[in-house]
Amino acid sequence: MNRAAGSPPSAGELVERARRIADEVLLPQAGTVDRAGDFPSRQLDEIAAAGLYGILAPATHGGLESDPRTFARVLEELASGCLTTAFVWGQHHNAVRAVAAAEPGLRDAWLPGLASGARRAGVAFAALRRPGPPLLRATLDGDDLVLDGIAPFVTGWSHVDVVHVAARTEEDDVVWSLVDALPAASLDASEVELAALGASSTATVRFSSHRVPRGRVTLVEPLATWRERDRRSLRTNGALALGVASRCARILGSQRLADAVGRGRDALATVRDEDVPRARAEAARLAMRAATELVVARGSRAVAVGDDAPRLVREAMFLLVFGQTDQIRAEQLALAALDD
Ligand SMILES: Cc1cc2nc3c(=O)[nH]c(=O)nc-3n(C[C@H](O)[C@H](O)[C@H](O)COP(=O)(O)OP(=O)(O)OC[C@H]3O[C@@H](n4cnc5c(N)ncnc54)[C@H](O)[C@@H]3O)c2cc1C
Repeated sequence: MNRAAGSPPSAGELVERARRIADEVLLPQAGTVDRAGDFPSRQLDEIAAAGLYGILAPATHGGLESDPRTFARVLEELASGCLTTAFVWGQHHNAVRAVAAAEPGLRDAWLPGLASGARRAGVAFAALRRPGPPLLRATLDGDDLVLDGIAPFVTGWSHVDVVHVAARTEEDDVVWSLVDALPAASLDASEVELAALGASSTATVRFSSHRVPRGRVTLVEPLATWRERDRRSLRTNGALALGVASRCARILGSQRLADAVGRGRDALATVRDEDVPRARAEAARLAMRAATELVVARGSRAVAVGDDAPRLVREAMFLLVFGQTDQIRAEQLALAALDD
């Protein structure tokens, strides 16, 4: 049914848009991207033109105001076309959500550009997951926030304008700020060489008394509050694994694998928060199993450079470690032990 002019697109329409981009724009280039170690920005431009940079932004600032389930479906579809591109796009929305909830000055200055994709964001919170002394510290000096330390992983570095960076204070609060993704005397970004998703422009960023205007601070929250938010946000990344598995299912024409993807999707959307690590582990395992089946089915073609199968295997391997927490890792190891 056609929607009324001006009304927001339905969830189904957004998933359709993502599927078209995945099938017609991302997948045909995925092998080239994987081998070239970079991807054309026009892939992100297509995603922006479809309105998907603003999928979670409020309509007041040009967004589509979708719900988390629709976001996860769109992420899954894009991941089925090219995990690298989907992964880079996926980092953007942490900044969108924070800016949408920030004070009006910051929100009005930043949100329209973030929602349209004219301004693209990465995120750096991996340091918060490490135990022990903070890897990245923030202090206040006059009107500036001063950052010192390391953000171990910042994906999309050369494709984003700004990074939403989390750093810890003396008081064990977490300060989030929008940091320009530009090299400076006080900011060094060195690309991490990866065995999978090597085109994701993932960098380790080192800050040495790097100054950020205080007006760029989006949020200050206790570390314990962030940990709770982190625990509740783990569902979404499971969609990346489902995207890889569903591409394998489609290449193989396997209804059995497609059904397994559907069950994984339902589990990630509906399980209680405490059961999310198990659902994440099962999604990652499904991606690996589906990619293994694809390799076996394709025979010797699967070891040829440029075939989709070896790329999908490496993508599935990557998803065994990305976005992991100790709980997800424990569930993955428990599932692996079931095979003994
Ligand atoms: C390619 C790639 C890209 C990524 N991109 C981003 C990104 O754009 N933004 C972002 O925020 N995150 C990014 N991440 C990080 C991701 O979000 C997770 O934080 C990360 O995957 C956590 O897993 P890890 O294996 O790195 O954990 P680690 O931090 O290496 O921890 C592994 C284990 O060792 C323990 N451990 C680690 N350090 C210590 C220590 N000093 N003392 C005692 N125990 C310790 C941990 O508790 C854990 O049990 C990326 C990760 C990868 C691999």
